Amino acid sequence: MPAAKDFLLEGIHHDAHEWVVTLREAIGNLLPADLGEQWLRLTNVGILQENRCLSCPNVTRQLDMRSCLSLSVVDSVTGDNLTTVEAAIANQLRDEETGLKCGACGMEGSRQSNSLSVLPEVKSLET
Ligand SMILES: [Zn+2]
Repeated sequence: MPAAKDFLLEGIHHDAHEWVVTLREAIGNLLPADLGEQWLRLTNVGILQENRCLSCPNVTRQLDMRSCLSLSVVDSVTGDNLTTVEAAIANQLRDEETGLKCGACGMEGSRQSNSLSVLPEVKSLET
């Protein structure tokens, strides 16, 4: 498989996640186009981002589709280690304030809440 040849080179660091992503894409490229797309969709995950304006009732929603969800193992607020997948996902989806400009009132500032809205059909965990 041509895409995997890089992994045979000495002196280049690769991690497990990179290997899985490379294999996923390489297999997708070997399949007929429609099956390849189906294959790649198996691991897709969607995060619904909801932005509530801090100055008016305007709410905007956007679906962020990703081929994988990369999670931090360190709490973004406290700096503590996160030891469960649930805690890492909760940290990733934590509400946050943004400087987004409101399309309705023109003021800057929103509260963004994130939720998993499209779950992958296949889940694999790599560290
Ligand atoms: Zn507004």
